Amino acid sequence: MTPQGAGRWDVVVAGAGPAGATAARVLARSGLSVLMVDRLVKATPKIGETLPGAALRLLGRLGLDGIAAAHHGSRAPHWPVGGSLVAWGSDVLVPTDALRDPAGRGLRLDRRRFDADLRAAGIAAGAAHRPADVVDLARAGEEWIVDLDDGGVTRAAWIIDATGRGARIARLLGCARRRAAPLIALYRTGVPERNADLDRTIIEARPDGWIYAGRLGTGRWVFGYHTGPREAARLRSSSSDQILGDAPGLEALLGAVRFDADVVALDARGSMLDTPCGAGWISCGDAALSFDPIAGQGLFNALRSGMAAAEVVAGAMAGRAEPGRYIDEMAQAARIYAARRRELYRAERRWAARPFWQGQAA
Ligand SMILES: Cc1cc2nc3c(=O)[nH]c(=O)nc-3n(C[C@H](O)[C@H](O)[C@H](O)COP(=O)(O)OP(=O)(O)OC[C@H]3O[C@@H](n4cnc5c(N)ncnc54)[C@H](O)[C@@H]3O)c2cc1C
Repeated sequence: MTPQGAGRWDVVVAGAGPAGATAARVLARSGLSVLMVDRLVKATPKIGETLPGAALRLLGRLGLDGIAAAHHGSRAPHWPVGGSLVAWGSDVLVPTDALRDPAGRGLRLDRRRFDADLRAAGIAAGAAHRPADVVDLARAGEEWIVDLDDGGVTRAAWIIDATGRGARIARLLGCARRRAAPLIALYRTGVPERNADLDRTIIEARPDGWIYAGRLGTGRWVFGYHTGPREAARLRSSSSDQILGDAPGLEALLGAVRFDADVVALDARGSMLDTPCGAGWISCGDAALSFDPIAGQGLFNALRSGMAAAEVVAGAMAGRAEPGRYIDEMAQAARIYAARRRELYRAERRWAARPFWQGQAA
């Protein structure tokens, strides 16, 4: 193990979102010196994402059961999600209940709080955090020389790319990334006229995209419209303050919505690196593999791959280089996701000839 103050670390983790903070915690707990670097201010806004029950189990494995809810009591920042109501392939909102899911209920997150708690758990395990971004890196023998945007330079035996969809480290290393059809998410918060305490996620397919809605811990709701870039641009330039357009199922359930915040537009298309790791580096979370939000898989993957990447690095530091299983696991996750996603978009036949559904189902 290298001394923490000497500017040379066993591992630099670029990105301190869910994947990076998880990897940092696992590595620090295994006795390695770990520096998370992330300026945080540039982090993409993330509103009201759903943490599936299976991801709550992973938090338990990390010794972090408390993070997601219970100990915050009645002022819990996150909202329990008991199931969903989905209108996909027909106008009818079909219920599913989390009681029938072996992994149990999920949570609609206050992401800022969730990410900060995970980061704090990494620091509590012994990792350090430096508020800076990686701008460049070079390999010198067996170590990385990492340039930061605060003018500093740090060195490490390993670097983990946990920089999200931008995959900044892999890109600096020249790795190629495969992307699915463009998908833009327009997000807004607001308060519905009725059923404001419903603990369900609502998904409704529409001719040019699909809608996601659910209650946040604050009592407000998040509404997302996922569509193609052209439709997103049209909606954003229209004078109406609506982003959802016509959504009969949602409207029947919630009534009119009083929107209270600006529209946030996010790139939501899935993408993956051609290879998730190489000599002295490994990627995890969205940097390695990012999903269309319809999959609801991003946070599970961030935690799971953060843990798995840390195990690869800890093994390599102990003289056991075995990235093969990690590469296979990521490739298998990508294959299963791609097949399920295609099946899902093809299941919506009502607008199969329209460009959005054609593009996503291809
Ligand atoms: C519209 C939308 C809706 C979604 N809904 C859901 C959902 O309901 N459920 C779900 O499970 N998932 C959802 N996701 C996916 C989820 O947001 C991601 O999978 C998750 O945030 C991935 O975590 P991460 O740690 O890999 O990356 P991020 O959370 O993106 O964290 C990356 C971190 O890297 C930092 N960083 C970037 N560049 C650098 C650099 N050069 N140097 C240092 N640090 C850097 C950033 O500041 C950031 O903090 C959704 C995604 C989108 C786009």
